[in-house]
Amino acid sequence: NVLKKTDLHASLKKYFGFSEFKGLQEGVVTSLLQGNNTFAIMPTGGGKSLCFQLPALMKEGTAIVVSPLIALMKNQVDAIRGISSEYGIAHVLNSSLTKTEVRQVKQDITDGVTKLLYVAPESLTKEEYIEFLHSVKISFVAVDEAHCISEWGHDFRPEYRNLRSIVNRLDEDIAIIALTATATPKVQEDIIKNLGITDATTFKASFNRPNLFYEVRPKTANVDSDIIRFVKKNNGKSGIIYCLSRKRVEELAQVLQVNGVSAVPYHAGFDAKTRSKYQDMFLMEDVDVVVATIAFGMGIDKPDVRFVIHHDIPKSIESYYQETGRAGRDDGEGHCLAFYAYKDIEKLEKFMSNKPVAEQEIGNALLQEVVAYAETSMSRRKFMLHYFGEGFDDVNGLGADMDDNTRNPKEKEEAKENVIK
Ligand code: ADP
Ligand code: MG
Repeated sequence: NVLKKTDLHASLKKYFGFSEFKGLQEGVVTSLLQGNNTFAIMPTGGGKSLCFQLPALMKEGTAIVVSPLIALMKNQVDAIRGISSEYGIAHVLNSSLTKTEVRQVKQDITDGVTKLLYVAPESLTKEEYIEFLHSVKISFVAVDEAHCISEWGHDFRPEYRNLRSIVNRLDEDIAIIALTATATPKVQEDIIKNLGITDATTFKASFNRPNLFYEVRPKTANVDSDIIRFVKKNNGKSGIIYCLSRKRVEELAQVLQVNGVSAVPYHAGFDAKTRSKYQDMFLMEDVDVVVATIAFGMGIDKPDVRFVIHHDIPKSIESYYQETGRAGRDDGEGHCLAFYAYKDIEKLEKFMSNKPVAEQEIGNALLQEVVAYAETSMSRRKFMLHYFGEGFDDVNGLGADMDDNTRNPKEKEEAKENVIK
């Protein structure tokens, strides 16, 4: 059953219209086609979906795809139907389906039409579904957004922890592929342990974004003026400014407007219509700047975002990486500027104080890394990549001089001396 490289490329072309694999895709796809447990760690936008969609289309049987959000599943199913134009090839199984719809899905699976079955982890615990899936041919199980398994991830979902025992009930030899954009070694260990895939072939892409410039500035009472000055200097460029609270979002957007910057606010407190209006204004470049809470950005693909400013420091390095990652998607410049004051860390600690102790401990550990990032005098890129378990040559590596500490080591030395005195 030797897989020829040419067959693989032909299938890639046939199903997706792409001529080349992106990054580590080919290795991941090959590993899964060979029936190996596989672990793919790639940044957002790295092309993880194809890593299980292509093998699913090529293999006999139905692949079960576990995904945490109905919106994510719907997107993927629509996209794959767009590609294959065959109804039935991808289905979502969830609690919103009518009995008739469930019957149709089951029929398509039994008939061998359905290649991808998207399910939320809680649906998968249903006895009725387990029995049915046990009776049909499953090609493999894909666990998308696998960091949901770990309390150290940013989106812990306890139901993700039952997956191993459910797969065992279907057939314990079914190959599992786990996929995530979370690169921290702790989360990866949790995933491997919890899914019982210690034998997995692991593929980890680099998380380095060489075109992004990282900078941290002390946050003073003049932070608004500092931001205005920065934005005016970057007049006409697209940028995102993240704030912690909705109130601050609205205030800062107003301050910017008053100062002649075209800006809109964005947070989850606005109704859906207003949110999509502001989002479109930003995407269509009717405005340069969006001032937002973290509610903004999921699934937003504006390639030419030139700066991401954090008015408030985020709660983890991963959040920071994700949020700054929205800059420079087109490989053009992207300036990532964070304003930092220790009292903001204390504020974030306070927010957690009503949470369970275990959660607080994790939250605090993540925050301490943010403090270390903000206060370090080493290459910020090296710091961040080290946090993700990745080595970085801060002399010759790609983007080695793209941060404030590396560009201006002298200023930093002086600053340190001042502290010592
Ligand atoms: P991830 O899940 O890793 O965030 P996606 O699977 O959503 O990423 O893919 C991101 C984008 O990359 C999609 O628009 C997808 O169509 C595109 N893409 C994936 N693989 C390829 C490829 N081999 N060639 C070109 N584009 C690709
Ligand atoms: Mg994805």
